[in-house]
Amino acid sequence: MRRSRAFIPTTKEAPSDATLPSHKFLLRGGFINQQGAGLYNFMPLGKIVLEKIRAIVKEELDSAGCLEVQLSFVTPIGLWERSGRCEAMGKEMLRIKDRHENEFVLSPTNEEAMVELVKNRVTSYKDLPLNLYQINTKFRDEARPRYGLMRGREFLMKDGYSFHSCQEDMVREFHLMEETYKKIFTRLGLDFRVVEADSGAIGGTGSKEFHVLANSGEDTLVVCETCDYGANIETIFESEEEIDALKATSYEELLESKISKKCECGAELHFRKGIEVGHIFQLGTKYSSALEAHFNDENGRAKPFEMATFGIGVSRLVAAIIEQNHDEEGCIWTKATAPYVVNIMISNIKDVNQVNLGEELYEKLKASNVEVMLDDSKERFGFKMKDAELIGFPYTIIIGKELENGLVQVYDRKTRENISVGADTIYSKIMELIQ
Ligand code: ATP
Ligand code: MG
Repeated sequence: MRRSRAFIPTTKEAPSDATLPSHKFLLRGGFINQQGAGLYNFMPLGKIVLEKIRAIVKEELDSAGCLEVQLSFVTPIGLWERSGRCEAMGKEMLRIKDRHENEFVLSPTNEEAMVELVKNRVTSYKDLPLNLYQINTKFRDEARPRYGLMRGREFLMKDGYSFHSCQEDMVREFHLMEETYKKIFTRLGLDFRVVEADSGAIGGTGSKEFHVLANSGEDTLVVCETCDYGANIETIFESEEEIDALKATSYEELLESKISKKCECGAELHFRKGIEVGHIFQLGTKYSSALEAHFNDENGRAKPFEMATFGIGVSRLVAAIIEQNHDEEGCIWTKATAPYVVNIMISNIKDVNQVNLGEELYEKLKASNVEVMLDDSKERFGFKMKDAELIGFPYTIIIGKELENGLVQVYDRKTRENISVGADTIYSKIMELIQ
């Protein structure tokens, strides 16, 4: 993409309600813009990042044997009445009426719709297990939408649902998904923890959350630094007051706090803050029983499906990645998540030699399938550099005055170091760096 043809409306300032780095930099970097409370538009840069995350999620799920579907975003209220979940979902579930006064909801999650999809279509134990997922819009009328993409009202979620003939098989799939999720968050370059969790309004028995460790996280966790045990405080403290007080305490304040409970491995437990980016549940037969979704077992007996459900906050991940990877100047993307991995900056577009080298390199990198931006804009060097830092390209090739001596610079966004490279070897050098 050429900067001169791109749509990246960067700004110097962020609105005052943007307090978190991710919120600030996503707005300032022209990744997203706000349409209303908890409603965001993705502009070209934001859309590329979102699609890169979506692709990683899809690749890992598909290779674990899951099947992608796409359900209607609008579901009839009757579905929710039959499962008995209208009340539990409360005001978070937005209800709408069509011209015939039929009531619908904007899907906050899809257990009911997915059970209906499978019901009467999968009738034998021979057709099980089955794991269906989708990556699409959800709507929750959150009481306090805030922190940009972190807690929106409309957001992108991956929601998966698996169907089994017995509990053991459901538990096997639960563990397979736990491993698959670990692969996804590792590929996204995140420092995360899997923790024991509360099942909330979704219901069910075993449940685990995936948290990106960040001081700005809204959840408080207890983790062991010796083994990999971790738990959301919601599962280990009993009183609501105690939980709310801990949630409201910053990580810095929590650092001194002792936890009386020890880890099973014998080591001390510590508090950490986390951003919930994934949640997996063992549902059992809660929804299949309520919605009378049955299959025939080996003996021809009708049984409700054993189920599990698996969620990932795809749009929240865009923000969570920045919470862990930023500095005071802006975002620091990795190759896996960067909107463009390489930025070629022509310092002075009136200099024919600089332009020629920039153009040649741009074409060569594009032909090698490198995600590359050519900054051919008329802006001053200082302005271009600030923009490059804010957007967070992993590498910026600076073609400037030194070209007279046959040299260009490669700027590494993460280390903020500049190295000089011969203009004749820059192509192979950059290919080596992004390997
Ligand atoms: P939270 O506790 O943060 O409100 P949740 O437990 O209600 O989340 P789930 O029902 O488990 O959310 O949904 C699956 C995933 O969707 C969550 O792990 C989270 O990453 C994401 N998610 C949930 N609510 C939102 C939201 N309002 N905005 C963005 N992502 C969200
Ligand atoms: Mg959850």
